Amino acid sequence: MRALTWQGTDKLSVETIPDPEIVNPRDVIVRVTMSSVCGSDLHLLNGYVPTMKPGDVLGHEFLGEVVEVGSAVTGLAKGDRVITVSIIGCGHCEPCQRQEFSCCDNSNPNPAATELLYGYPCGGIFGYSHAFGGYAGSHATYVRVPFADVNVFKVPEGISDEQALFVSDAVPTGYFGADIADIEPGDTVAVWGCGGVGQMAMRSAYLLGAERVIAIDRFPDRLALAKDKAGAEVLDYTQVNVHEALVELTGGRGPDRCIDCVGLEAHTTGVEQVYDATKQTLRLHTERGAALRQAIRACRKGGTVSVLGVYAGMMDKFPMGAIVNKALSVRSGQQPGQRYVQRIFEHIQKGELDPAYLLTHPMSLEDSPGGYALFRDKEQACLRAVFMP
Ligand SMILES: [Zn+2]
Ligand SMILES: [Zn+2]
Repeated sequence: MRALTWQGTDKLSVETIPDPEIVNPRDVIVRVTMSSVCGSDLHLLNGYVPTMKPGDVLGHEFLGEVVEVGSAVTGLAKGDRVITVSIIGCGHCEPCQRQEFSCCDNSNPNPAATELLYGYPCGGIFGYSHAFGGYAGSHATYVRVPFADVNVFKVPEGISDEQALFVSDAVPTGYFGADIADIEPGDTVAVWGCGGVGQMAMRSAYLLGAERVIAIDRFPDRLALAKDKAGAEVLDYTQVNVHEALVELTGGRGPDRCIDCVGLEAHTTGVEQVYDATKQTLRLHTERGAALRQAIRACRKGGTVSVLGVYAGMMDKFPMGAIVNKALSVRSGQQPGQRYVQRIFEHIQKGELDPAYLLTHPMSLEDSPGGYALFRDKEQACLRAVFMP
């Protein structure tokens, strides 16, 4: 089969590799019909997530058709149109029983790396380095999905391929971020980052009761989508002082809930950007924390900061004092999408949520290295390049 492989920092190539096979009785093989780029893939591409090996297949957000079913899989059959949650759960361990699927004790066959970094091993993720299981990703003709009865969902009638694709990753990530922000009716929610996940966090915030959503980014096309599609008020951080603008927009009290959809490659202006980027280049810290610091500082007293952006290790100048002295709650996690998929399908069927607009650049898998370049450089208003093997 054909697959987009990581060959080193900033090096991608489409290669012919062996087809995947059923390994365990709960596996299925999915023929991929659409697989999209995600912001977290850029951290792999840019070399910020260790334990990648040349030849690793990227991709974790995908739609496809079941073509082979393991002997112990129930509820799925050949020919089913399905999405797969990007973070793998087993369904049986203690975290999975609590519906904390990203903390699964069984889905990561290489537990040592995350155990060393984080104290305990984390669950597996498709196409997301050997620290997260070394699973081959979805930018390929076929993908093997473990624990299929837990992670694979049939797409109901009335939902298009372009809508369903994003229920794999971007929509449940945004929905999860809004959910753990503990939004109450009437709340003002500020969202840093207007990429796919940010857009979905904004819509989800409204679905969960927010009265106002304020979006922060620097790309005019993304801010326009946040305004037109997600109904947000928008701030361009290269044009305004974000903190002052948020104070002003909220009558001096600050947003009730702040959601960081940016992560470890945040950009900002001035000295902070130079400091963060230099230390990151010298490997003196792993995270550029501008967006998260801003969210923590802007959040109202007693509010919640929800962190969806990917962070990998250690951040310098982390404003712990603001968290303690303003009594903030900080929540985070990789998405446990298995919890939300059915609810999201219902929102789409009712017309309350339509993620299809995230798909800006459909292309062949053979053209995928170019798709990554467009997405990385934010060229041609690329929000999500989608590969069709
Ligand atoms: Zn993702
Ligand atoms: Zn589990």
